[in-house]
Amino acid sequence: MQRQILFKCPRTGMNVEHRIDDERPERLEPADAYVSLRCPACMSLHFVNSTTSKLLGERSAQSVSIPRSA
Ligand SMILES: [Zn+2]
Repeated sequence: MQRQILFKCPRTGMNVEHRIDDERPERLEPADAYVSLRCPACMSLHFVNSTTSKLLGERSAQSVSIPRSA
């Protein structure tokens, strides 16, 4: 099973499409679903979440999951 990831290269700002083989049949938690991709735009490795297509360490308006004490 293949999955297509679309992410934005943080170095070049280019939108990059990448296909990955979805090797694991079980569902991954989004936090654990990061895969390392060789970016064709800048030729370096990026870690991209295969579930959300978010780059690892990507800054966004969304707050990073902050541990909340009950
Ligand atoms: Zn890149």
